[in-house]
Parts: sequence; C-alpha cells; structure tokens
Amino acid sequence: MTVTNRKLIGALMLDEACYKDHGIFIFDLDGTIADSRHRHHFLQDVVDGVNVPKKKKDWVSFFAAQEQDVPHEAVRLLLKALWQCGEIIIILTARPEDQRKVSEIWLNKYGVEYDALLMRPVGCREDDNTLKVRQLKKYFTEEQRARIKTIFEDRRRIVTSLRAEGYHVCHVDEGDF
Ligand SMILES: [Mg+2]
Repeated sequence: MTVTNRKLIGALMLDEACYKDHGIFIFDLDGTIADSRHRHHFLQDVVDGVNVPKKKKDWVSFFAAQEQDVPHEAVRLLLKALWQCGEIIIILTARPEDQRKVSEIWLNKYGVEYDALLMRPVGCREDDNTLKVRQLKKYFTEEQRARIKTIFEDRRRIVTSLRAEGYHVCHVDEGDF
C-alpha cells in the first residue's frame, strides 16, 4: 500500500493519523545511499594498502564533491521499495544544514523520495555518532523511536553507538574512517 498525502508537521512531528500503522526506516546519506568512495581521500590516506584516517580531515572538500556521487543502487532500490510500501523514510545525515539544497537536488536527481531530511546544525562540531543518537531523541518521541525498524548506516562508530542505544542497525559498508 502506498500512503498518499504524506506530510510532516513541525520538525518531525509525524501525522499519526496517517502514519500510525507504518514503520520508520532511517537511512544515512554519505556512504549509504550515496557512493562517496571517490571522495574518501579527503578523509583518509592509503598506507601499504590500508586505510588510515588523515590527521586533518578536509570535510569542506569532502562535502563539496558530493555532486559527483552516484547512488548505491541496492540501497536506493531498497529505500524505494519501502517508500512504495508506505513506510516512513527518514534520511539522517551528519552533513551540515548549509548542504541542504545540494543534497535535496541530488536526492531528487536520483528519484529518492523521503519524508524528512535531518541534518547537522550549522556550527555544530559534535561527533557524528553522538549527533545521530541525539537527533533521534530530539526529533522522535519515545513511542516513535520504538517504531524505528532499522537504521541503514555505513560508518562503524555510528553503528556501534546506535546499537548501544538499542536500535537495529544494518551496517551497509565498512565506513571505517
Ligand atoms: Mg555515512
């Protein structure tokens, strides 16, 4: 069944009349929906065939190159199937808010439909794993969090933090940077 007239109220106050029978699925963006491997060199070096985090990560260049991403097709198709079943699709990314427009354009370009795109507040320097745990508590009620079926995420430390909070997490890639 496809839910029509999808809408969100406030920051992410779900319209319960519309959504109460549906599960919530959370997708990370970089490295999960989007194949960001071509820009990982801004964050890590390869030493003797092993990825080593850069001492000074160039996040500005990393985000600036996002327009050249293509989707991870399996994740895109899975998201689409869940959307068409009427499930609630939330994209939760540590990208800063000033990347919203380019992110929305990219998602639209590849036909990714979703209910909300949650991003890092501008100026927030919080670690992404801490940020994502906090964002989920900020935007969802306890009852809604209980309806989060799965979180799709590539970054290992975020996976670890989310699992520690009791979420079911599908680790889609190494994301070890
Ligand atoms: Mg990621």
